[in-house]
Amino acid sequence: MNTEVKVMGIDAGGTMTDTFFVKANGEFVVGKAQSNPQDESLAIYNSSQDALAHWNSNVDEVYPQLVTCVYSGTAMLNRVVQRKGLEVGLICNKGFEQMHAMGRALQCYLGYALEERLHLNTHKYDDPLVPLSRIRGVTERTDVQGDVVIPVREQEVRQVTKELIEQNAKAIVICLLQSHKNPESERKVRDIAKDELKRLGKADIPVFASVDYYPSRKESHRMNTTILEAYAAEPSRQTLQKVSDRFKKHGAKFDLRVMATHGGTISWKAKELARTIVSGPVGGVIGSKLLGEVLGYDNIACSDIGGTSFDMALIVKGNFSIAQDPDMARLVLSLPLVAMDSVGAGAGSFVRLDPHSGAIKLGPDSAGYRVGTCWKDSGLDTVSVSDCHVVLGYLNPNNFLGGLITLDVERARQHIKAQIADPLGLSVEDAAAGVIELLDLELHEYLRSNVSAKGYSPSDFVCFSYGGAGPVHTYGYTEGLGFKDVIVPAWAAGFSAFGCACADFEYRYDKSVDIALAQYASVEEKVQACKTIQEAWEELTHKVIEEFELNGFSAKDVILKPGYRMQYMGQLNDLEISSPVLSAKDAKDWDKIVEEYEKYYARVYSESACSPELGFSITGVIMRGYVVTQKPVIPEEKEYGKTPDASAKIGTRKFYRHKEWADADVWSMEKLKPGNEVFGPAIVESDSTTFIVPKGFATTLDKHRLFHLRETK
Ligand code: AMP
Repeated sequence: MNTEVKVMGIDAGGTMTDTFFVKANGEFVVGKAQSNPQDESLAIYNSSQDALAHWNSNVDEVYPQLVTCVYSGTAMLNRVVQRKGLEVGLICNKGFEQMHAMGRALQCYLGYALEERLHLNTHKYDDPLVPLSRIRGVTERTDVQGDVVIPVREQEVRQVTKELIEQNAKAIVICLLQSHKNPESERKVRDIAKDELKRLGKADIPVFASVDYYPSRKESHRMNTTILEAYAAEPSRQTLQKVSDRFKKHGAKFDLRVMATHGGTISWKAKELARTIVSGPVGGVIGSKLLGEVLGYDNIACSDIGGTSFDMALIVKGNFSIAQDPDMARLVLSLPLVAMDSVGAGAGSFVRLDPHSGAIKLGPDSAGYRVGTCWKDSGLDTVSVSDCHVVLGYLNPNNFLGGLITLDVERARQHIKAQIADPLGLSVEDAAAGVIELLDLELHEYLRSNVSAKGYSPSDFVCFSYGGAGPVHTYGYTEGLGFKDVIVPAWAAGFSAFGCACADFEYRYDKSVDIALAQYASVEEKVQACKTIQEAWEELTHKVIEEFELNGFSAKDVILKPGYRMQYMGQLNDLEISSPVLSAKDAKDWDKIVEEYEKYYARVYSESACSPELGFSITGVIMRGYVVTQKPVIPEEKEYGKTPDASAKIGTRKFYRHKEWADADVWSMEKLKPGNEVFGPAIVESDSTTFIVPKGFATTLDKHRLFHLRETK
């Protein structure tokens, strides 16, 4: 192995832990291991060894060469979902103590299927992250203009801090009304609380003031996000410390970075770690964007299926959109998140019969890293989608994770028979095929409706399909949709990890502002608006630079990209705009800011929808800063003929679909060469993913090692 390995990406998912290594010349390998919720660092180690074995190498040789390593994972999200975070104490305004538990009304149906959203009796609130016993109100009020009308009372803050400690709080969160408008009161409470903690000998208890982290309007969102920072991000930091320590043990010199919700990567030591709550699926979107840029695809429908979920996002005209107030784990949050739609149906989803209707139901829970009943040591007795895969010949029971786990087809058959086939009066094959068809149909409809609900047609998009189970179902959820092209990267199984390695090292900070100007505003008004924007940009720049300095960069290494959120006055939705000016001073700058917004608005909603007569509001400002890092290079190989080498064929396998068994050709994914064409029924296998090409489909591998799937009927 002569060329040095430079970049590593990690996707520690609920089912598998994927690693992706890239050499300086762009060559790469993918590794997979079963996830290990107890010790993520071990799963990463195993996955790395699996990947590097392809190069006859190992972690002790490669880790010291790496310059970049980006982590993504689901541990933080799981911690929140399972309510296994830190015991947090909350200080809020007096009279608002119940606010966190009540939440926003939509939190009681977030994440539900449509039929369950419709009926009140299915709505339910999750347990709050902080129980009422650890919430205290203090007398204070700042009005909507940001004027303090009732100042903070020191003695009261000291008293509630003491009470929260008595209630066993391990961290204190402060969130007061309107603090994004005027941080004065909240900072005062923060300083008094810190002082009181010192007096109590508890100075090690961290204090989180919402305004220092997420200074944005909508207090439920701001409160939830700041609580998350204390509740889940701090424990996750310990997990990342462990991962980082294991790297160091094997000679690594890089500083571990984590994929963040805004699509950039941040250091694991970053102040705001809550913004890494979802990272794997974000990685996939970033990878798709880079791949699209290299190949010249502007409009991409990204689809990612793993063991637990199906995530999709749209890249339109080379850009993905950012949701400002997303929800996650059924909580409304104020974090910038790459806009994605997810459904809890994946290759490991549990399959059950609805006791009332007898209908097959998939998920929302899944077997996770335990695969299904087909794995003897799983301890599971509920059928999963993977059980159906093995019974129908989709998956090779001897090649799961390259044979690391042997799957027992007969065991899966017995469970499917007892739980699904017999109660429905079907054969095991037809019951299992019904499950697969149902999953295909659910994903197909989900993808179709998400594209068309945004006003687009699949015929304007190329579909990228990835995730370990993406290629297993690509045919099923894209059939008949009419995408321009359907693409399965040969490294689909490690695509999110690849995407993480593609992401910029980027910090992003957001702040709410309230600027409203009429169409023909005076020069003075425009200058005043620019002053507000500029002050906010400077405040955020300071935060960005501070984070980079923490990681050993100096201000001059950082490339700054200011942005803003703008809307026509009175409209409900704002748009995120990359600023055409680096600083805002005079009326001309304001005009450019407006012009850029209208240009973008016309692109999104059409020119005729532009409504300058309403006036303009800027609702938030953004500062992004990034430094240049090493990124993967997309492979470019020599093209061969259409007919694969005989050595690429590794046998045939019985494969069941549409009520018949067929003999499918089985091909080795690694041995197929660019230019080769494969006709269905065929199965293209690698150690970590399986690409199904049924009858009526064909696929060609191109020089970038991307499979193009087409219908031949
Ligand atoms: P992911 O969560 O993205 O790692 O995807 C995991 C899923 O990949 C599994 O649940 C399987 O359905 C699918 N898969 C397909 N082929 C393989 C294979 N050879 N080894 C492991 N997983 C596979």
